Amino acid sequence: MFSESLRISEIFYSLQGESRTSGLPTVFVRLTGCPLRCNWCDTEYSFSGGERRTIDSILQQVAGYGAKYVCVTGGEPLAQPDCLLLLKCLADAGYEVSLETSGALDLAEVDARIVKVMDLKAPGSGESGKNLYQNIQHLDHKDQVKFVIADRADYDWSASKLIEYDLAGKVSDVLFSPVSTGVEPAELAEWILADRLPVRFQIQLHRVIWGDKTGV
Ligand code: SF4
Repeated sequence: MFSESLRISEIFYSLQGESRTSGLPTVFVRLTGCPLRCNWCDTEYSFSGGERRTIDSILQQVAGYGAKYVCVTGGEPLAQPDCLLLLKCLADAGYEVSLETSGALDLAEVDARIVKVMDLKAPGSGESGKNLYQNIQHLDHKDQVKFVIADRADYDWSASKLIEYDLAGKVSDVLFSPVSTGVEPAELAEWILADRLPVRFQIQLHRVIWGDKTGV
């Protein structure tokens, strides 16, 4: 029994729209709150509000969907300390669990079974000063690093970090994703191909299917 509680914006079942498991049916647990304010944030509705839920009740709802994959996201999930216990409970229950995190909070205590999908914030986000580069030492071959790219300056910055930290040799996938209101996807794709970067281009699949709708 886990009576610890977390503030939750929403729990829903959909197709994973990003990362290596893009396209797979997944339960999303979106935690409320984020200490960052990225210029292009598309989940501002998760900054406040939500509902306090016990870990037991979260586990019960997640089980009801009968899915194999669970993604804990936000906001910034790690802004709530009991997120660490939630992640452990989900892994104990046998799910393949991923954590989407801004890269600004310490990953040292995250359960080793969790797939970490960590952002490195490029300058266009306005939050690159919050990147906690020591988190890279906590990433391994099952984890992923995501760069959200607004323009050519962000692309050049991301390519330089890719090399500086040997990210392609360290994690399973380095994800380059265009900001929906920024660089054209085709342009970003051409830059990646021209430079022969060992990264995975991605666009948000859920937006292609459902547009700006929330809860999908
Ligand atoms: S870290 Fe994520 S949730 Fe927080 S402001 Fe940036 S994009 Fe939005």
